[in-house]
Amino acid sequence: AAVESAPAIVVGSGYGASVAALRLGQAGIRTLVLEMGRLWNTAGPDGKVFCNTANPDQRSMWFRTRTEAPLATFLWLDVVNKDVSPYPGVLDRVHFDHMSVFVGRGVGGGSLVNGSMAVTPLQSYFAEQFPTVDTAEMYGTYFPRARAMLGVNTIDPAWFESTEWYKFTRVSRKHAQNTGLKTTFVPSVYDFGYMQREAAGTATKSALGQEVIYGNNFGKKSLDKTYLASALGTGNVTIHTMEKVTGISRAGDGSWVLSAERIDYSGAVVETKQYSCTYLFLGGGSLGTSELLLRSRQSGTLPALDASVGAGWGPNGNTMLGRANHLWDTVGANQSTMPVMGIDDWANTDNPVFAEIAPLPTGLEHWVSLYLAITKNPQRARFSYGSGGLSLDWSGAQSAVSSGMAKKLFDRINSANSTIYRYDLFGSPSRVFADDFTYHPLGGCVLGKATDNYGRVKGYSRLYVTDGSLIPGNIGVNPFVTITALAERTMARVLVEDTAP
Ligand code: FAD
Repeated sequence: AAVESAPAIVVGSGYGASVAALRLGQAGIRTLVLEMGRLWNTAGPDGKVFCNTANPDQRSMWFRTRTEAPLATFLWLDVVNKDVSPYPGVLDRVHFDHMSVFVGRGVGGGSLVNGSMAVTPLQSYFAEQFPTVDTAEMYGTYFPRARAMLGVNTIDPAWFESTEWYKFTRVSRKHAQNTGLKTTFVPSVYDFGYMQREAAGTATKSALGQEVIYGNNFGKKSLDKTYLASALGTGNVTIHTMEKVTGISRAGDGSWVLSAERIDYSGAVVETKQYSCTYLFLGGGSLGTSELLLRSRQSGTLPALDASVGAGWGPNGNTMLGRANHLWDTVGANQSTMPVMGIDDWANTDNPVFAEIAPLPTGLEHWVSLYLAITKNPQRARFSYGSGGLSLDWSGAQSAVSSGMAKKLFDRINSANSTIYRYDLFGSPSRVFADDFTYHPLGGCVLGKATDNYGRVKGYSRLYVTDGSLIPGNIGVNPFVTITALAERTMARVLVEDTAP
């Protein structure tokens, strides 16, 4: 087959990839983006592009026969998950031995399925995790650039205090305050002006219509509406969808050669393709980039990769849990899917935790306060690639560190409010803490270890990593603003130093 070539290729179309594509395009460099998922721009039979969490169909998950939502049960009933037919749906759940990882699939990557929380990490903790990065420059230039480009906005506090849609958050705030804990508003890329119109009945409901992990039809500024739209607008960027890059090698003239498989909507491989480029940017996410590098080393095509490729992985300490409220503490049948507040106990050096107040929008009063806790779990794991594909040596004992930290915080909240945990949410009554899945896979190609201080892969020239695999396992808050800002920093440097004629 003919080899298609472009000056630059970007693998994936999530945060890191989208930043790379835009900045390359703006620099006048013709760039090809290869994304394994589909472009989400065509309405299904119901007139909508995405399905909601209450009625998931084939669009929900990546080639599944049944959905695998984070909450397995409700009142111990298997009412959450539904049978679906296999299709390149927008949310994937990748299973390793003791950890499963949720990721987005499609043009926009995780931005299509995530909760929109756009949080800048504490400067001191960023400095601790990235000792070689100039933090003043990050907080002065790249974080503000990322927030502006992503369209970050904040909820109107007066509306927040009055709307039924955030009663669940106000109840959890009260319980945190009763415990002497600090809460903080969390910025978002969901358009709060749109959300207020949803509440007023003048706009079609999305966040207020149970849409989130299987995509939002309205309101959310996902990457296809921000970075990627601008990238396409440069006229230099092209996106190929439904193509998974399977291997990287280097030709004799120093150019990169990629092999890719194009699949159809049934998942069948319909074509094997070859690409070549001068500059190669990896933005497949923590899992995608780690897999591609390790697979290429295993097959002998990238033998000079640093030994630390695959290492430094962590789930950002994620633990989900629910508390049972008293009957008088109603959380409301109507809940927005977009979280806007966190309990910030990160300064507690004995047990640093940042817990976002999560919605559970079922349309019925359920008295549940749900949380996604981000704990400062220091445990790390390593990816490897073999005959069984990608594996991860994360253990149950390592997860127990996360849930142990979450338990310490929420035992305090329960004791101050005379409440208990909910036992009906995660499949079996003995599971109160869901510490075996993550929304925040981080690491595998850590900045300054597997790469230089700017994401250039050690051992090779003109090969870059721009995604969540650069972050060493934990960042203390939801990660996409950090991933975006680090990618902006890499692109600013690379375009000046590496691509000059
Ligand atoms: P990704 O966004 O994961 O993008 C990688 C892309 O590359 C994907 O589209 C994938 O299909 C593609 N790809 C991978 N391998 C290949 C290959 N070999 N060939 C071609 N394409 C490939 N973070 C926050 O900050 N705030 C939140 O509120 C939040 N909520 C979340 C809720 C959910 C349900 C999930 C799943 C995640 C959430 N996150 C949140 C996490 C956030 O979405 C991720 O951290 C972020 O998307 C990671 O960005 P990335 O650039 O590393 O890669």
